[in-house]
Amino acid sequence: MRVAIVTVGDELLAGDTVNTNAAWLGERLTERGVGVERVVTLPDRVGDIARVVNEYRAEYDAVLVTGGLGPTHDDLTMDGVAAAFGREVVESEEALEWLAEAGGYTADDLAEGTADIPRGARMLKNPEGVAPGCVIGSVYVLPGVPAEMKAMFETVAEEFSGEVEHVASVVADEPESALIDRIDELRDRFDVTVGSYPGDSVRVKIQGGEAEAEAAAAWLRERVDLKETGE
Ligand code: ATP
Ligand code: MG
Repeated sequence: MRVAIVTVGDELLAGDTVNTNAAWLGERLTERGVGVERVVTLPDRVGDIARVVNEYRAEYDAVLVTGGLGPTHDDLTMDGVAAAFGREVVESEEALEWLAEAGGYTADDLAEGTADIPRGARMLKNPEGVAPGCVIGSVYVLPGVPAEMKAMFETVAEEFSGEVEHVASVVADEPESALIDRIDELRDRFDVTVGSYPGDSVRVKIQGGEAEAEAAAAWLRERVDLKETGE
């Protein structure tokens, strides 16, 4: 399964808010074996949201959209997603019932638009907040508030799956450029994908079937200066 993540919010683009939702979703989806192939951040603008959601729903098995739910003027995600499907947003009876039951809210307590989702969408409850999310086609719409986003994702997590690859790591105490030949040889010899992540040392991440990835890691460990782990 291949997916795209779309995070919505002017504050993310301006750097006021760090995009922890994308990192968290990327990690949770990857550990379920899902291939995350795009992360994009969009302004609070209906046209941009509609265009990108439409493009990505054609390209990927699922699209996860976070941020910009609820009734305030800059909460335009439901409108954008609805437009991507050529639908309008309508007040969800199911959401109103749930908000009355679980939160004790009457329709009069809620700001107008709070329970709006695209027509025909499946409503997702917000276990940590008020504004509901939804699923329409292969597009999952989740809140922006991190605690709400996480709790709502957990309610649909089972719908995301794939083949989980084994990961082996080798931490080399050499300049990254010095490792190029050995990493090339490793990629020729073994059926794995390799990532190289420099920092104080270089973390070489080897992914594939368990036996193959571990064999590749063992081969590399014998051929690099390993970082002292202090163990
Ligand atoms: P609500 O349901 O409360 O209206 P919302 O879905 O409208 O929330 P936003 O208005 O987009 O969400 O953002 C609410 C809060 O969550 C803001 O403080 C925002 O900075 C933060 N937030 C939004 N998107 C992200 C993100 N991708 N990563 C981290 N924090 C985020
Ligand atoms: Mg908001």
